[in-house]
Amino acid sequence: MIKAQRGTKDILGDEIPTWQWILDNAKRIFQNACFQEIKTPIFEATELFARGVGDSTDIVNKEMYSFCVGGALKDSTSITLRPENTAGVVRAFIEHNLNRQSPPQKFWYFGPMFRYERPQAGRQRQFHQLGVEMFGIKEPSADAEVILSAVEFLKSIGLGDLEVELNSLGCNKCKNDYRNSIKEVLKPYLDELCDDCKMRYEKNPLRILDCKNEECQKIFELPEVKKVILADYICGDCREHFETLLEYLDELGIKYSRNKLLVRGLDYYNRTVFEIKSQNLGSQSAVCGGGRYDGLVEMLGGVPTPAIGFAMGVERLYTIVNKIEQNKTDYFVVSQNTKEALKLARKLREDNKTADFDMQGRKWVKQLEKASKVAKYAILLGEDEINQGFYSVKNLSTGEQVKINNLKELC
Ligand code: ATP
Ligand code: MG
Repeated sequence: MIKAQRGTKDILGDEIPTWQWILDNAKRIFQNACFQEIKTPIFEATELFARGVGDSTDIVNKEMYSFCVGGALKDSTSITLRPENTAGVVRAFIEHNLNRQSPPQKFWYFGPMFRYERPQAGRQRQFHQLGVEMFGIKEPSADAEVILSAVEFLKSIGLGDLEVELNSLGCNKCKNDYRNSIKEVLKPYLDELCDDCKMRYEKNPLRILDCKNEECQKIFELPEVKKVILADYICGDCREHFETLLEYLDELGIKYSRNKLLVRGLDYYNRTVFEIKSQNLGSQSAVCGGGRYDGLVEMLGGVPTPAIGFAMGVERLYTIVNKIEQNKTDYFVVSQNTKEALKLARKLREDNKTADFDMQGRKWVKQLEKASKVAKYAILLGEDEINQGFYSVKNLSTGEQVKINNLKELC
């Protein structure tokens, strides 16, 4: 029997309502904040990712699904299934001269991404991301707006208590100075670092700080190394940018913590980088990663344009949202009078509520049992209710029951 590929997953019937609900919320929150949806192709020239994500990253080095069209000999253009979507959105931004619209240009997206990783809980080879990218604003208000939209969206799907971890990588000048001091302090330990870090030492030393290898971690803990890692290296302008962002977050009541080891996987980030984590996810705890990438548009051939964005893993969101509640029908009409029950279900459906009823007029208790399994509320329609024209509404998770005279009173 042919099976689904390792690291891929079918999304089936009873999972769909939760997925749809997550997406409906994303659409509402991002569109309310004036982000426009953008859909870019699933594959792009390999070069776009090599340049746009960075060829010292794990994504480009180890995780890309790249192939040649029509076989290697026929056409040597290598294409790649997108491992992330920032590079694709930036390509589209440049190709369609979207910089001509007045800034900010704000986009949101949703779609599948592909990375050849070792499959495990929270880590697949085809997974979905939703995210936003905003172009044209260098001020920290843009960083605040983007972080706020991530937080508001997570709140809208019931994940209000997540913590935002933040760092500032500084501008190119700051990053360079920091890179050099990291290289210098790690030089004596070069032989002891893992193979990946040896490679990063040459190509992208900041990424060494992201290494999860225990031996490398021990080296970072050595006092003289730690001192350099934690040094306050960003310049006055970058510090001001960061501090203003923190003021915005305080003003908005967004909880955050500074994590000086947060460097993020992608090469192109500068200044603000952030992650949002959930305790509920164990080792793959990040649901959202983002940051500022002021140099990327220019690097990919566009006019210099500041930009910032984030991406969230939808599978990871899915595992932490309250699946059961979302799958439940809004109302189940409990009644021995099947005709009246059907009429009431119709009214509720007309009002855009999901509603069901018992078609066989079974015993009251049987119907209530069924309602508790499948619905959030039961509407009890006995003889009194029908004769006197009111409804008894029972909240099936709290057991609370109220009388209403008009369906408009339902929330
Ligand atoms: P990680 O450190 O978990 O590998 P990352 O830095 O590679 O994450 P990003 O490239 O920032 O991740 O992607 C943003 C989000 O996409 C992550 O926070 C995560 O929720 C999700 N994500 C990344 N890779 C995968 C994957 N292989 N399977 C499922 N979700 C993923
Ligand atoms: Mg990764």
